Amino acid sequence: MAGMLYLVPTPIGNLGDISIRCRETLEQVDFIAAEDTRVTLKLLNHLGIKKSLVSYYEHNKATKGNVILERILAGETCALVSDAGSPAISDPGEELVKQCADAGVTVCAIPGPCAVITALSISGQNTGRFCFEGFLSTAKKSRREHLEALNTETRTMVFYEAPHKLVSTLQDMAEVFGENRSISLCRELTKLHEEVVRTTLGQAIERYTQTPPKGEFVLVIAGAPEAPKTTATADDAAARVAELMAEGSSRKDAIRQTAKELNLPKNIVYDAALGIE
Ligand code: SAM
Repeated sequence: MAGMLYLVPTPIGNLGDISIRCRETLEQVDFIAAEDTRVTLKLLNHLGIKKSLVSYYEHNKATKGNVILERILAGETCALVSDAGSPAISDPGEELVKQCADAGVTVCAIPGPCAVITALSISGQNTGRFCFEGFLSTAKKSRREHLEALNTETRTMVFYEAPHKLVSTLQDMAEVFGENRSISLCRELTKLHEEVVRTTLGQAIERYTQTPPKGEFVLVIAGAPEAPKTTATADDAAARVAELMAEGSSRKDAIRQTAKELNLPKNIVYDAALGIE
């Protein structure tokens, strides 16, 4: 008989959110691969389930993934769980799913608790189109590059963030998106102290500088307003860059200003300006 991998979401706070199907799957599989076996053991004890556990986390996933895959290929069924929420979403699992898919193993994802979706749905922001950006890097330069790349993003953006980095992240965001950009800070979702603060980046910085943030946060940020359509061409851009450079602007400043004035993406202006001395 062919084995199988089940992705089993677990509560992000409220234990009542475990579904009947998730519970039955945890009962029926041959073994559970868990991000932290101690955390999962507590959940299993709460559910009255006894099951063999193997650990599968960030720093052992390369070796443990092969062991788990071999057991599945030998016919066993495995449930993958993370500490909370949906496995493979900013949690271990992405690689295991790829490994199983590549090996022809059936993967079954059971729907359930997920902080992104819970936050997005309660945020009050536009939900029709959104992008999930996960955690920003801890390195200042790559955080900044990540945010800069989202400068013209018009979809609602969702980020995960730890409380001790919240204020500096909000400051970086305000520098890139502007202080007036609307944000919903979704804290301690499904828990006793659940709170959604719908405000602007500037006001959020003030609030959490005065009262240091506690708990888990998802940040849901409005996208940039749709840019008005432009009729400017690459030739127009090249002419304007040449004009600004002749007036003494550096190439970088001329490209930036031209992109802004003509409402063209910076890369188009950059390409158009190649060769201008
Ligand atoms: N895979 C999980 C999911 O999608 O639900 C997310 C795991 S990620 C390691 C943990 C992050 O999810 C936290 O830092 C926080 O940003 C967010 N998060 C998890 N539980 C939350 C909760 N109850 N309230 C708000 N944010 C939460």
